[in-house]
Amino acid sequence: MAVKKILLYPDPLLLMRSAKINIFDKNLVNLSKDLIDTMYDADGVGLAAPQIGINKRIFVMDCSSENEEKDCRVVINPEIEHASEELGSYKEGCLSIPGITEEISRPKVIKVLYQDVNGVLQRDTYDDLWSICFQHELDHLNGKLFIDHLRPMKKILVKNKMKKSSKKKKQE
Ligand SMILES: [Zn+2]
Repeated sequence: MAVKKILLYPDPLLLMRSAKINIFDKNLVNLSKDLIDTMYDADGVGLAAPQIGINKRIFVMDCSSENEEKDCRVVINPEIEHASEELGSYKEGCLSIPGITEEISRPKVIKVLYQDVNGVLQRDTYDDLWSICFQHELDHLNGKLFIDHLRPMKKILVKNKMKKSSKKKKQE
C-alpha cells in the first residue's frame, strides 16, 4: 500500500475522539496496510489511524524485539476489560511528538477485547511493552496523547518545547 504522512502535535485531528468501525471491507484492509507501512517506515512500534488523519478506531502495533520475527497486530474497536493495579513505568515517545520522551506510569498487565480486520472478536492479555503500546495507541483513539499523563507543569514545558520546534520548522 502506501506510506502516509504522520500528523504532528498539535494537529486538531490528534485531539479528537475517533469513531467506531462498523464496516469491515476492502477499504479497511487498505487502511490497515497503510498504517502498517507507515509504522514500519517510521521505525515505530505502534501507529493509530488519527495519526494519519483518519479518525477511526483502528491502530496497529508490533512490539516484537529486533531478534524476533515481525509480529504486527491490527486492533479495531479496542477496549480494556481489566487493568492490573500494579503499574509499570516506561520512557514513552510518540511519532506525532518527535524528539520528546517522558517516563509514564500505566497498568502493567491488561486484558483486552478488540476486533481484527475481518471483524472477528479477539481477547488477549498483554504485559510489558505490548501493554504500554496498546494503552498508548488506545489513548490516540480518544484524542489523548502520552503527554496528557504528565503532571500539569511538566506538560506545559513539553507543550512549549513542541510549539517552539514547530514554529522553527515553519520558518525553515
Ligand atoms: Zn503516539
